[in-house]
Parts: sequence; structure tokens; C-alpha cells
Amino acid sequence: MASVLQHPAEQRVPVSATKLLINNRWTASASGKTFPTIDPATGEVICQVAEADAADVEKAVSAAHAAFERGPWRKMPASERGRLLHRLADLIEDHAEELARLESLDNGKPVSVAKAVDVAATVGCYRYFAGWADKVHGKTIPIDGDFFCYTRHEPVGVVGQIIPWNFPMLMQAWKLAPALATGNTVVMKPAEQTPLTALRIGELIMEAGFPEGVVNLLPGYGPTAGAAIAHHMDVDKVAFTGSTEVGHLIMEAAAKSNLKRVTLELGGKSPNIVFADTDIDRAVEGAHFGLFFNHGQCCCAGSRVFVEEKIYDQFVEKSGARARKRTVGDPFDPNTEQGPQVDEAQFDKVMGYIESGRQEGAKLVCGGDRVGDRGYFIQPTVFADVNDDMKIAREEIFGPVMSIIPFNSVDEVVERANRTTYGLAAAVWTRDIQKAHAIANSVRAGTVWVNCYNILDTRAPFGGFKQSGIGRELGEYGLQQYTEIKTVTVKL
Ligand code: NAP
Ligand code: MG
Repeated sequence: MASVLQHPAEQRVPVSATKLLINNRWTASASGKTFPTIDPATGEVICQVAEADAADVEKAVSAAHAAFERGPWRKMPASERGRLLHRLADLIEDHAEELARLESLDNGKPVSVAKAVDVAATVGCYRYFAGWADKVHGKTIPIDGDFFCYTRHEPVGVVGQIIPWNFPMLMQAWKLAPALATGNTVVMKPAEQTPLTALRIGELIMEAGFPEGVVNLLPGYGPTAGAAIAHHMDVDKVAFTGSTEVGHLIMEAAAKSNLKRVTLELGGKSPNIVFADTDIDRAVEGAHFGLFFNHGQCCCAGSRVFVEEKIYDQFVEKSGARARKRTVGDPFDPNTEQGPQVDEAQFDKVMGYIESGRQEGAKLVCGGDRVGDRGYFIQPTVFADVNDDMKIAREEIFGPVMSIIPFNSVDEVVERANRTTYGLAAAVWTRDIQKAHAIANSVRAGTVWVNCYNILDTRAPFGGFKQSGIGRELGEYGLQQYTEIKTVTVKL
């Protein structure tokens, strides 16, 4: 394609929410400052958004604290919290088209994907946790002596939530839904690149009828607003998704302030292991989807594709052919598979990795350049003859860059797959059930896919081993991260 299109005016989306949401009121920031959010397809400013800083965090935490201690939220029946979450899910569904367009405009992902994946999974996530709201309960425990002992699962309190830009609306749901189902109150900072859907959903949260102070939304920057949340003495927990580097800062802030609970979903360098006995065409398509989905901007992207020597050349050829066919272009065009990277910084970072792959001697099979002359589009890029020591095989790229690496045996590939500080996901492609289980049981990662990739479901836990994170999100395991266990013992 040549230059990427300017969206026709009628395809643009009206933006209604651009301020901070504190205590159910839309307010300007205390400093009066705003920041621009950009359309990554054109590099142009969509609108200005209020910029939260420490003073706004102070106000929001105090509203969340009051709502937790004194508001109607704590006294509300658990089933009513579930009903509010269901109402929110219904409202999001009613606005599916609008939200998909807004997500696409702010983030660059194709509208078709935003609707089929992001909006659908967001609705599913709120519904799933809505169902849990009145099903969270403790145990009675037969302790020694003449006592009645039981546990209560109580909300942690005020929860700070800091989310990334790769799935803005969905990451908001993964964090808000379990926190609200269990009765916490929230101060959330959306990513600076993509605040618009989080704020629009803030309007729907108010329309659904959530009480004052329960959900507070603070668009702004990480080192200011984000850090103020992480350091705050009245924030009882921080849930963070983003880079491993910032994950370290969040833990440090928790340690230096009030030992707040911390859950982290961080980066990855996930191995995708293809054995020679597999259906090669399915594996090629699966590996393509595993890496290029969401423009490579997935924490669980299968960015190290290990392919058994016997089929290596064939696999490389087919993967190159598939990547060359990938349609890159206007996110508002229904035929587009891949839009722009989220911003200039990510674009530059990914182009830097492509350059390093070239310089370190990997073989460029296809791609390697930008697409068009405006916006942040990058060609689907495949490198072959990659070895484990190259930068592109070690560091998280977070872009449309696949590295294909040869291997020979199960033991060898397990050892090499695990030679990373990350441990988020892995996959294996084989018809041999023994090989599949050998990999599933020995790869150190929070998720293993067998003959599939990127299968994420609200009911199944997701999270990382090693430096890919702490704790789990989604499912019953994810819910547990939002409660404190209280033991009550009664003398009979
Ligand atoms: P990031 O800096 O970790 O951003 C994630 C979130 O943390 C954003 O809301 C960010 O605010 C906030 N943040 C940044 N510094 C902070 C601080 N000192 N204290 C508290 N919060 C802070 O990630 P990024 O810069 O957007 O992307 C860099 C790399 O991170 C990517 O290339 C990718 O490798 C990785 N990443 C991973 C995921 C994932 O799903 N695991 C998602 C996004 C990025 P701002 O809005 O100001 O950035
Ligand atoms: Mg944007």
C-alpha cells in the first residue's frame, strides 16, 4: 500500500469524555493541565485530555477511601453489586460499535478486531465477574476446642490500578470487574496513549448507577500520576499491567510506602515450539496469529518461534509468504489485519530492533520497513537464522517482528525455551501427545497452549512465572487477588 488514508470525517467518532472522573464528577485537573491523545494512523491529535497529577490522586484516593469506609457500597448486598456489573455489561454491549471505533481511533487496532475481540471480551469479563459477586464466601473450620471458627473474604480496600495501551478497554475490564465484584473501590490510571475508551466507559459506569467514589479514573502519565498511586499510603493494593521495568518500580513503591498488595502482569518472550510431526500449515497460521495479532503488541506474543530442523526451511518459507500477505493499512477499513503501532516511541523502538536483527546477522525473510509516510505502520517482518543470543531473541520487541529459530530435540528446546527472565506463555505444535505434555510440564510459563495460540478466556487464569509477573488475573484465581481473608473465632 502507498500512504495510509486519512479517515473520512463520517468514520470518526465523537469524543464525549476527556476529563478526570472523581467521586462521580467530571473535573479538570488541579493544575489545569491537559495532554494530547494521538491517532496513530495519522499522527494527528484527536483531542486534549485532562492530565492528572499527585494532587488529583490525593482527591481520588480520598473519594475512594470515603466510599469504601462510609459509602453505600460496603453495605450494598453482594447481589446488587452483581446487578450493577451486569447493567454495565449491557450498556457496553449497546455501545459496541461506538466503543470499537473509539478504541480503533485512539489505539490503531482495526475496528473489526476491536469489536470482535476487545468489546466482546470486555462485555464477557464484566458478566463473568458480575456472576461471582454473590458467590464469594469463606469456610467453616473445625479447630480444636470449643469454638466456632470461620473465614470471611473481605475486599482489600482502595485499589490502585494502572493499565497499558495495548488492550485499553479490556485491561480496564480485567482490573475493574473482579475489584468491584468483591467490593473494593478503585483509583485507575489508563495509559497516556489511550485514555478515551476508559473515560467513555466511565460515563457508562455512572449511567449504570455505581455509587460516588467507587470508580475514579485519572488519565495522566506514569511517572507522575501512576507513581503517586503506587506510593500512596491509603491505597491498599496496586494492580499493574505493563513493562517489567515499571513493575520493579511499583514493587519498590509498595515496599517504601505501606506494603500495599501488588499484582503485576508484565512482559514476555514466549517460546512457540513447532515439532516436525505437526500439520505444518496450521502451525504456520497459528504462529503468525501468535506473533502478529494486535500488531505484535501482546505481552504473550509468541516471539521466539522454535522450529524443528527437519521442517525449518519449509516453515520459514511458508511463514514469510503468510506475513507478506498480511494486510496493513487504515484501521477503519474492514479488510485491514494490521494497523499502526500505538505511537512514535513504540514505532522507533520496534524499528530499532529490526535494525539490530539485521546487524547481528539474522536473515531478513520479509518486511523490515515502515509502511506509508505518515502514522506508525510497520511491515510484518520475519527473521530466520536467529540464534538465542541475538537481541531480537532475548528482549521483548512488542511489534510485528517474528524470529524463527531452529532446534533438534525436546530436552534441548525446553532448556533453551526456559533460558529467559520471562515466563508468561508458551505453545507447542505436535501430533505426539507425549511431546505435548513434555513441553506443557517443563516450560516455566503461566500459560501453555497446545496446537493453538492466544486462547484467553475470562474463566481461565492468566499471569506470569518469573519476571513476567506476580499473581493471576481472570477466573477464580484472579478474584482471590482482590480479597483479604479474615478468620473469626467464637468461644462457644
Ligand atoms: P509502561 O511504561 O510499563 O506503561 C504501562 C502503564 O504504567 C502506563 O499506564 C504507564 O503510564 C504506567 N507507568 C509508567 N511509569 C510508571 C511509574 N513510574 N509508576 C507508575 N506507573 C507508571 O509501558 P510502555 O512504556 O507503555 O511500553 C513499554 C514496553 O512495555 C512495551 O514495549 C512492552 O514491552 C511493555 N508493555 C507490556 C504490556 C503488557 O501487556 N504486559 C503492555 C504495554 C507495554 P504512561 O501512560 O505514562 O506510560
Ligand atoms: Mg492515542
